[in-house]
Amino acid sequence: MAELITSRLSGFHKLPMADRLGTVSRMFRLTLEESNAMNGVGGLSNDTANTMIENAIGVFKLPLGLGLNLQINGRDYVVPMAVEEPSVIAAVSFAAKIAREGGGFTAEADDPIMIGQVQVTSFGDPTQAASKLVAHKEQLLALANSFHPSMIQRGGGARDIEVRVLPAPEGPKGEPILVLHLLIDTQDAMGANLINTMCEGVAPLVEQITGGKVFLRILSNLADRRLARATCRIPVASLADFDLTGETIAEGIVQASRFASADPYRAATHNKGVMNGIDSVAIATGQDWRAIEAGAHAFACRDGQYRPLSTWRLEEGHLVGRIELPLALGMVGGPIKIHPQVQAALKILRVTSARELSLVMAAVGLAQNFAAVRALGSVGIQKGHMALHARCVAVTAGARGLWVEKVANALVTAGHVKVEKAKELLASMMRDEALAGQPVP
Ligand code: NDP
Repeated sequence: MAELITSRLSGFHKLPMADRLGTVSRMFRLTLEESNAMNGVGGLSNDTANTMIENAIGVFKLPLGLGLNLQINGRDYVVPMAVEEPSVIAAVSFAAKIAREGGGFTAEADDPIMIGQVQVTSFGDPTQAASKLVAHKEQLLALANSFHPSMIQRGGGARDIEVRVLPAPEGPKGEPILVLHLLIDTQDAMGANLINTMCEGVAPLVEQITGGKVFLRILSNLADRRLARATCRIPVASLADFDLTGETIAEGIVQASRFASADPYRAATHNKGVMNGIDSVAIATGQDWRAIEAGAHAFACRDGQYRPLSTWRLEEGHLVGRIELPLALGMVGGPIKIHPQVQAALKILRVTSARELSLVMAAVGLAQNFAAVRALGSVGIQKGHMALHARCVAVTAGARGLWVEKVANALVTAGHVKVEKAKELLASMMRDEALAGQPVP
């Protein structure tokens, strides 16, 4: 019988890996093939990899884990995350547990409108060329849609145009840049291919209308018409930890937010933390994470200064976190339908649209950021991070099996998480156990 679906899986991290997979396989009714895809026994085959990229020689693996405790708009989500960095999944799960106490996350997203760009040159008078394009809007949209009629049938397709005249980058005597934007509803696709098809398709008409010459015809990764937003409200009292009051922790988080808003050096690191969470979900769900990264960072400097994607304020006894960023995601396209692990990940995530996926990613980004600024604004991140990092150091030093945990614990106790120290500890622990006549684990 299927277990109740909840993301609140207490004690999950203490289970052996096989039992964790067993729990989610039962909960989400994964087939044997899907379970095997998740644990790496199955998954992406060399043959499929060979069809995806050029000069393929194999398949690259990353650790896959589950972000827990996420509740978004009242619904529980168990979130597959592929990431090599320790502490990211623990941080998201921890933050989501605290946010859950305040009612979880609320999230929403825009329609999936993407921008395709057509660059025009040698157009003569820019104002006249721009007016001519605007006057031919319906003709341009009809032509764009003729290259992808199935998108219209799905309720999407090219919906509008914009014409932009940008100052010449090389100085007053240079020709201004004339750009036609096609605003295209890509439904459940990220949309790059269909947008590029439409942009290339309308280019001859654009040349005819303006008398100019078209050069670039491609989507913009600054998907600022396709924003996702998430919010959480955490009672200040529930933030108390590390022998500090909730007020003190909240103050540290608000100060971290102010710092990032004022300083691009800090904002870059703040947003790196946000993207730790978002990229991990993006990779596990087969998204183009370079496109997401490009869009997020371009959006972060939309007013001329690079700023944080998320902010934290105190409002009526609550710490309120908000995040907003472009998320051009797909449930189809790219590797999504052909990568077995991606399909199993989407089954666990239970999202039914690219929009719903964007809500999850926005909430995960906010959760990740909360965990980071909570530690940074109080006791610092090294204590928690080093405890998790110690396991990697132990493995690098040669520890395997039960030795990994033993050496990692000893490293943390010694307060010296370094490979040389780990080698020393491993050698001395193995020697002691051998001398005591115990079987080496
Ligand atoms: P695909 O072209 O692979 O898939 C999208 C297609 O899926 C649609 O055109 C549509 O085709 C079909 N489809 C089926 N169901 C739906 C649905 N419900 N909603 C929407 N479309 C549906 O991928 P994308 O166009 O999304 O492009 C994404 C890929 O492009 C990624 O792999 C990305 O890496 C890559 N890319 C990215 C670039 C960038 O970011 N700058 C540049 C170039 C490529 P149909 O109507 O025919 O069924």
